[in-house]
Amino acid sequence: MEQHEKVFDLIGVGVGPFNLGLAALLDEVDGVEPLFFEQNDEFDWHPGMLIEGTKMQVPFIADLVTMADPTNKYSFLNYISKNERMYQFYFLQRLDIPRREYNDYCQWVSRQLNSCQFGKRVTNIRPVRDNEQYYEVTVVDTKTEETTVYRSKNLVMGTGSTPVMPKSFQGFPEDEVFHTADFLPNHDRCRNANSITVIGSGQSAAETFRELLKEQKECGFRLDWITRSPGFASMEESKLSLEHFSPDYVNYFYQLPQEQKDEIFATQGLYYKGISNHTINDIYNLLYEYSVGGKEADVGMQVLSEVKDLKKKADGGYEIDCYHWQKQEAFTHESDIVISATGYKPHVPDFVHELSDFLEWDEKGRYKVTKDYRLKKQEDLQGEIYVHSGISHTHGVGSTNLGLSVHRNKVIINQLVGREVFPMNEKTIFQSFDI
Ligand SMILES: Cc1cc2nc3c(=O)[nH]c(=O)nc-3n(C[C@H](O)[C@H](O)[C@H](O)COP(=O)(O)OP(=O)(O)OC[C@H]3O[C@@H](n4cnc5c(N)ncnc54)[C@H](O)[C@@H]3O)c2cc1C
Repeated sequence: MEQHEKVFDLIGVGVGPFNLGLAALLDEVDGVEPLFFEQNDEFDWHPGMLIEGTKMQVPFIADLVTMADPTNKYSFLNYISKNERMYQFYFLQRLDIPRREYNDYCQWVSRQLNSCQFGKRVTNIRPVRDNEQYYEVTVVDTKTEETTVYRSKNLVMGTGSTPVMPKSFQGFPEDEVFHTADFLPNHDRCRNANSITVIGSGQSAAETFRELLKEQKECGFRLDWITRSPGFASMEESKLSLEHFSPDYVNYFYQLPQEQKDEIFATQGLYYKGISNHTINDIYNLLYEYSVGGKEADVGMQVLSEVKDLKKKADGGYEIDCYHWQKQEAFTHESDIVISATGYKPHVPDFVHELSDFLEWDEKGRYKVTKDYRLKKQEDLQGEIYVHSGISHTHGVGSTNLGLSVHRNKVIINQLVGREVFPMNEKTIFQSFDI
C-alpha cells in the first residue's frame, strides 16, 4: 500500500456533474489544491439512458459553471465554440440540448481537468487527529488493484444515486429483467423479443416506452406500460413552479423543522418525478397515428395497478402478478422482458455509514447537514466533509437539480476558502416563499 505524502485541500469522491462542476470552478480559484476520484474509466453520465432524441430537462445555461461565472472557460458555449459548432447551435435555436451533447460537453471538461482522476475507487475515509487534523482517503486503482492512501484537509462527497430494483425483480437474468439505467445495453435484445413491459411512470419510464413504441410496429413485439399511479402524470413545469429550484426556495426550506420538511417534500413529487409534457405528447401522437384507419396497435397502458411479484415461466418469459388497488382485484400479465423504471435512491457509501460515531444522524438514520452543505460532526475536527448527494431531506426538492448544483458549488467554495469568491445574490425569483 502506498502512502501519498502531500496533504490536499480537498478530496472529492465521485465525478458526476456535481463534483465535476466543483472541480471546474476550483480550477480558477488560486490557493486551493483539490483532487477528485471517479471509479469509472471516464466521465459518463447515465449512459444506459442516453437515448437518441432525449433532451436535458434544464436549459444549457445550467451547465457546470455558467450560473456561477458566465466567463468561465468551461462553459457550454465555450465547448460549442471550441468544437466549431457555433452556427449550428445558433440555428438550432434551442435551450434544451440533447442529453448526449451534455455528456459530451462534460467529457470535454473532464479531459482538461488534471484534478479529476478516473479508474480510482474510494473505499474508505478516516478522520485523523495528529499534530495536524486531516482525513485519510483509501483509493483503489480499478485496473491494477493497487491501493494508495491520500490525505486531505477536507472532503466532498459526490457519489450520486443508484438504481432501485424492487426485491421481487431481483435474481433473474439481467438481459430479461433490468432497470431503465441498463436500457441501452439491452436495446437490441428488446428488438428481438415477443413482448416487453415497462413498469413505473416517471420520465425514464416514459422515455423508454416512447423509444420502444417508435419501433413496436417494425419489430412486432407486444408493448405494455404498467403503473400503480392513478395516471401518467405530467411534471409540474410552469415557470412559477420552476422557482422551487432556486436558491431562495432552498434557503426557505432549509430553516423549517425537519418533520415539516419531510411532510412538504412528500407532496412535491410532480416537481421532479412526473413526465415532461413533450414526452407525453410524443407518445400520444405516436398512438394516434398508429390508430389511423381504425387499426389497433399491440400496445397496452395500465394505470392503478401495482406489481406484486414476478415469476419466471417454465416455457420462457415472465408472469407478472398485479393488483388493481382501486377495484381491489388481482390479475396477471405475461411478458418476455420486464423493464423496471422504479427510480433511483441516493448512493451513500458504506464507509460514510461507518463514521456513525463521528457524524450526527437524525432519528431516521439520515446524516445531518449544515446550511452550507457540511456534514454535521459530533467531534470538533477542523476539516469539513461537504456533501452533494442524499440531501433532499435537508435542502429539499432541488437537491438533485443540475442548475442548483452550481449554486451549491458556489456556497461550498466560499465556505472552503473562507471568503466570498462568488457573490451570493439570494433574491433570485419573483415570488416569496418566506415572509
Ligand atoms: C437518466 C437521468 C436523467 C437526468 N436528467 C436530469 C436533467 O435533465 N436535469 C437535472 O437537473 N437533473 C437530471 N437528473 C438528475 C441528476 O441531476 C443527475 O442524476 C446527476 O447525474 C447527479 O449528479 P451527481 O454528480 O450527484 O451524481 P452521478 O452522476 O450519479 O455521479 C456520481 C459518480 O460518483 C461515482 N462514485 C460513487 N461512489 C464512488 C466511490 N466510492 N469512488 C469513486 N467514485 C464513486 C459514480 O461512479 C458516479 O460516476 C437526471 C437523472 C437521471 C437518472
